[in-house]
Amino acid sequence: MTASPPPGPAPETLTLPVRIRSQDGRGGGLGEVQFAQPSLGRRLRKAGALLFAGLVALVIFLPVPLMHLVGVLIFLLMTGLAVRRLRSRDVLRSASGRCPACGAEGSYYVGFGGQRLVFPIATSCPACHIGLELERRPGALEPG
Ligand SMILES: [Zn+2]
Repeated sequence: MTASPPPGPAPETLTLPVRIRSQDGRGGGLGEVQFAQPSLGRRLRKAGALLFAGLVALVIFLPVPLMHLVGVLIFLLMTGLAVRRLRSRDVLRSASGRCPACGAEGSYYVGFGGQRLVFPIATSCPACHIGLELERRPGALEPG
């Protein structure tokens, strides 16, 4: 076993350009999202922890009449979460850009850093509170 990396901001954070569209149909805002790609080992560890928690619930509730169904449900839920965690190669960390509605630049709320990166990303402008949709910007340059 080698030494684990120091805690703090994930060093493997990547940036992706996005196009921002506001709820009222205005587009043209540009921004970017930061996302991380946790290693397979890290994902396996998290998935393993979730599976273990599900198993513990199963063992606790299974001998209890009626409650055994709760145990099974928790186990299935944890298994589902574990599978999702395993498949989440891209985890959304943060997003920022220029609001197409009010023109303010800033960073947007995109959860607590554990959300899977799936486009479009729904968020809102911290300045004018309008709903925003972040879409993946195609690699090729586009007018506007
Ligand atoms: Zn705004």
